[in-house]
Amino acid sequence: LTSAEEAVLNKIEEKEIDFLRLQFTDILGTVKNVSVPARQAEKAFADGIYFDGSSIEGFVRIQESDMRLVPDSDTFSILPWRQSEEGASARMICDVYNTSTGEPFDGDPRYVLKQALERADEMGYEVNFAPEPEFFMFEEDEDGRATTETADYGGYFDLAPKDLASDVRRDIIYGLEDMGFEIEASHHEVARGQYEINFEYDDALATADNVGTFRTVVRAIAAEHDLHATFMPKPIPKINGSGMHTHMSLMDESGENAFHDEDDEFNLSATAHSFLAGILEHAPAITAVANPTVNSYKRLVPGYEAPVYVAWSDRNRSALVRKPAARVPAASRIELRSPDPSCNPYLAFAVMIHAGLDGVERDLETPDPVQENIYEFDEAKREEYGIETLPSNLGEAVDALEDDEAIYSALGDHIASKFVEAKRQEFEEYLIDVSEWELDRYLETF
Ligand code: GLN
Ligand code: MG
Ligand code: MG
Ligand code: MG
Repeated sequence: LTSAEEAVLNKIEEKEIDFLRLQFTDILGTVKNVSVPARQAEKAFADGIYFDGSSIEGFVRIQESDMRLVPDSDTFSILPWRQSEEGASARMICDVYNTSTGEPFDGDPRYVLKQALERADEMGYEVNFAPEPEFFMFEEDEDGRATTETADYGGYFDLAPKDLASDVRRDIIYGLEDMGFEIEASHHEVARGQYEINFEYDDALATADNVGTFRTVVRAIAAEHDLHATFMPKPIPKINGSGMHTHMSLMDESGENAFHDEDDEFNLSATAHSFLAGILEHAPAITAVANPTVNSYKRLVPGYEAPVYVAWSDRNRSALVRKPAARVPAASRIELRSPDPSCNPYLAFAVMIHAGLDGVERDLETPDPVQENIYEFDEAKREEYGIETLPSNLGEAVDALEDDEAIYSALGDHIASKFVEAKRQEFEEYLIDVSEWELDRYLETF
């Protein structure tokens, strides 16, 4: 065992942990658990824990269903809302291995992200990511089911007493801190009942792990207060949806920010410009992965601070990529504004990294930034500026993914084909459904 693994065993002993939850995610980003008695930790590190993968979304075919989970000792944390008299639980996030070949399982989203990081590493970079997940908190009805009644009617950066859910948010932040998060800020978002909590950037793998943990903690603690927290991108029409803006930068081998250049007008290095250009070039295909639900596309419409057009800017919030102001060189970064918190963070981060690195490898140049409000452009003006539009629904996004060899292959054949199949089916189901909107509009008219 490594010394980090030994340290985890000591922690388990010292904190009297009884159960370990071994976690991994399916292709859709849902966190899965296998719970084992904590005394199995040593065996888990040494040999892994075997489980039947045949019932996990998109994992394997029945005839090759044995998988092995190997916990990553870096991800050990004690679950704060699970302490009881009978003892405590802790979790670790695992890598998934194929038992017959002994190789990493290519259906494991965490492995897909690790491969993207390996490509960056070969080019001499480490990758730092920070997400800004937004979410709503809704009241529950008598049966404990989620409604779309918000817990408060506050607005952007409002304070109590309007911000009635601030107590809940405080408990969420304590819970996250107990799980090892460095919380930077938390605020009420633009929409009623909508919040954002920002946590410290980290390498892209740790950040993807954190997004999964974040969603779990937020939902669990909201539920303790009889509220339903949701990361659905657009739960209420005609008000802001929930995004997960993602900040990215590369660090070179000497630990310097490879995105910073003092002499550039935007303080962005040539590497950063090419990375940004790669993101713009592959934006339609990235959308399928970063905005993977039918509902995601109800958010990506003009007028609600969500991107619709493929352009970048250093001020404008209607652009897809923004260059935020940075106080120190280490903070130079770019912000992709399209992702939403319904995505699988491992896959979404992996395709963003591959897109950017493709731009770096090909020395792509950034187009001019667009500083005006693009929502107000008409088609002719967009054409004049050469501004493309993001896919307008899940079907178009999946088409774009299939047409973009660099992004499709970044997912690996196994995940790419399962993902496309699942998303096509989801979109087709949606197309043949008859919505409440249609009934309201037509039932009594015709
Ligand atoms: N909620 C907006 C979105 O959908 C973002 C609002 C903001 O953070 N300024 O992306
Ligand atoms: Mg923010
Ligand atoms: Mg925000
Ligand atoms: Mg932002």
